[in-house]
Amino acid sequence: MFKFIIRPFQSVLLERKLCVGCTNSLENAKRLGNLSNNRFMVECKCKRRYVFDKELNQYQRATFAEEQQLLRQLEKERQHSK
Ligand SMILES: [Zn+2]
Repeated sequence: MFKFIIRPFQSVLLERKLCVGCTNSLENAKRLGNLSNNRFMVECKCKRRYVFDKELNQYQRATFAEEQQLLRQLEKERQHSK
């Protein structure tokens, strides 16, 4: 029953581009990097990570796989800049 209440509420927050944890605006979240041309990951002040999809114009919670992908990408970029 708890899930039925919490799910729509989280979607409403994400639709308004607000963090589901601390309700800060995700527009002000720190941008971590691009996953693809249309998608980039941000990190809120509370350390929750989200992926913004430009086509959908919407934020979603980042999955573990997406976080790993971005970390690998950042690692690669760091090595290139050396
Ligand atoms: Zn937050």
